[in-house]
Amino acid sequence: MNFLLSKHHQLLQKEFSQFAQTYAAPLAAKIDAEECFPTVTMDKLIAEQLMLLSIPRCYNGRAEELLSSILLIEELAKHCAATSIIVSTQSLLVCLPILKYGSQEQKAQLFSAFSNGSLGAFALTEPQAGTDVLAIETTAEKKDDHYILNGQKKFITNAGIADIYLVFAQTAATPKKKLSVFLVPSDTVGLTVSEKVSKMGIRGSTTASLTFENCSIPQENLLGTFDHGYKIALETLNFGRIGVAAQALGIAEGAFDSTTVYVQQREQFGQPLANKQHIQFTLAELQAEIEAARLLVYQAATFPTTDDHFSEKASIAKLFASKTAMSVTTKCLQLHGGNGYLKDFPIERMMRDAKITEIYEGTSEVQKMIIAHQLFQDAADKMK
Ligand SMILES: Cc1cc2nc3c(=O)[nH]c(=O)nc-3n(C[C@H](O)[C@H](O)[C@H](O)COP(=O)(O)OP(=O)(O)OC[C@H]3O[C@@H](n4cnc5c(N)ncnc54)[C@H](O)[C@@H]3O)c2cc1C
Repeated sequence: MNFLLSKHHQLLQKEFSQFAQTYAAPLAAKIDAEECFPTVTMDKLIAEQLMLLSIPRCYNGRAEELLSSILLIEELAKHCAATSIIVSTQSLLVCLPILKYGSQEQKAQLFSAFSNGSLGAFALTEPQAGTDVLAIETTAEKKDDHYILNGQKKFITNAGIADIYLVFAQTAATPKKKLSVFLVPSDTVGLTVSEKVSKMGIRGSTTASLTFENCSIPQENLLGTFDHGYKIALETLNFGRIGVAAQALGIAEGAFDSTTVYVQQREQFGQPLANKQHIQFTLAELQAEIEAARLLVYQAATFPTTDDHFSEKASIAKLFASKTAMSVTTKCLQLHGGNGYLKDFPIERMMRDAKITEIYEGTSEVQKMIIAHQLFQDAADKMK
């Protein structure tokens, strides 16, 4: 593993940093306060092909590696975590499975729509199926040349904004439950989207429920192989988890940067807070946590995706980076004193935004299950 970014990635990082400062940062407080979607920033991201960063040029993408998308998510999250999750969802949970499993027609049609500003959503979670993905109750029954979709999805990012939903549904119950993935257009008859929910953090991103009532889905809208949806879900979540890890890293970095400035400006006892060794040591500890998180995130983003340990690396990155985001934002808020508790300073929003990184795309407990499974697998392999 190369621990330094290549010249190319350094240049991209600079480009993304400038983009985030110019377009995402000025709107971050407003979209949080008003719970509104960052339309202006999204339009800019689309215009600069940043929503199709890791997609081949033949589909209007920029043909970059996964690491480039991760750098974009990190830079956006430094200033606006809500914008970063919209990008992460679209780039990693929507575009990547379409690229890998989509037919030529699906790819041509969807990437063309995405390059013109349309968005997708990844609809896996249900009221009774969160951590336990296989508890999914949404069904898709084959009828002539289409499928009839019935069920409910909960907590779907981009619901109500998206034009296409990647919907995971049960296509076999016995002897073993099997899932398949369907591309469901937002104007499908029988599909209703709930009011968006009001959230603690990432309030500029839209989260809502979906209900499918006898929705007729043409068989051409099956994504990938019939009954192989569970594999597609797990594979896709590996990428999504690195995206959330990058989001967590960016939140931690943003909190750290603003706090470093704050403690040099705020004076108590006749001198800047930064002169106190307690403050210096706190920041030094946080700097070390952030550096460690960054290495784990970049390691996961550059790890061979076909390697058996790819899931584990993604889970380690998410587990550690999300813990770092909580640790850094909580301690940085403390260093702001009473000001940290006010909406006037971004640290208050950053601390609220950090929490979700320990929950979505698999809670921290799920990441530990994956890591533990792999470590015992490795131990068993060593004994062979
Ligand atoms: C803002 C937001 C956006 C989201 N976006 C999407 C999206 O776009 N698409 C999508 O499909 N989903 C999305 N989700 C859903 C998210 O991925 C789930 O909320 C998450 O996976 C946890 O599921 P749950 O909420 O049902 O919690 P539960 O599964 O009910 O878990 C509750 C608690 O129990 C713990 N737990 C559960 N099982 C075990 C176990 N076996 N051992 C130990 N502990 C356990 C969990 O870790 C957690 O702490 C989103 C959620 C939120 C809040």
